[in-house]
Amino acid sequence: MSHHYGGVAALHDVDLTVPRGAVLGVVGANGAGKSTLGRVLHGSLVPSAGVREAPADIRGSLVPEGRALFKTLSLRENLEVAGYAVGLKGAALRSRLDETAEWLPPRLRERLGVPAAGLSGGEQQILAVARALMAKPDVLIVDEPALGLAPSLVDEVYSRINRLAHDGVTVVLLEQSLSRALTCCHQVVVLHEGRIAAYGESADPGFAERAEAAYFGGGTPVLPDAELSEA
Ligand code: ATP
Repeated sequence: MSHHYGGVAALHDVDLTVPRGAVLGVVGANGAGKSTLGRVLHGSLVPSAGVREAPADIRGSLVPEGRALFKTLSLRENLEVAGYAVGLKGAALRSRLDETAEWLPPRLRERLGVPAAGLSGGEQQILAVARALMAKPDVLIVDEPALGLAPSLVDEVYSRINRLAHDGVTVVLLEQSLSRALTCCHQVVVLHEGRIAAYGESADPGFAERAEAAYFGGGTPVLPDAELSEA
């Protein structure tokens, strides 16, 4: 697929498969095309060329960059709005809310009635992920969850996202930090100026070096499916 916004090219010839059950990291510098790719994978942006193919029963949910919470609404109301958006009401909504609240750390679970504005940045990020979980997604796409957070909070946010992957949710993590992606993700795609410049398994000993060169220098564009199907 390729995408351009008016005259601005954001993605070029990106060919990518999201493996079910994996944590896939998409890394790149500012403007590399991560958010654009995330929105295409989510299905909320139709690429200018090419297609997104997704099985009909796959539900994707996006945690946007900057969280986009309703700050004056309570935690519970933020979750409810997300529930309404996927058609939940009545007992089904209450039960999904209870299920999602279980995933929250106790300090948030105990404050469901307070406005989201009163939460710290890290807590707001966790709430934003919880809101996306109200859709009970098969694929969760999280756009730069570490943005603006203190390092200790970053660890908490990532460990909660990783727990979701353990529970069977496929996770796509859009991320500026290559080292964090290599630590947290099974596979990493490096985007450079809208192209896939490297794609591989984090556990592959030679990959970190290749990925770093691609992050900063662009490398040689790769065809990911060809590379990984041999792995
Ligand atoms: P960042 O880390 O800064 O959020 P990114 O890797 O997520 O960047 P994108 O937001 O996908 O990158 O942007 C890719 C390119 O597309 C950039 O050149 C950006 O300026 C441009 N772009 C993104 N959204 C729009 C838009 N709505 N209108 C015009 N250009 C856009």
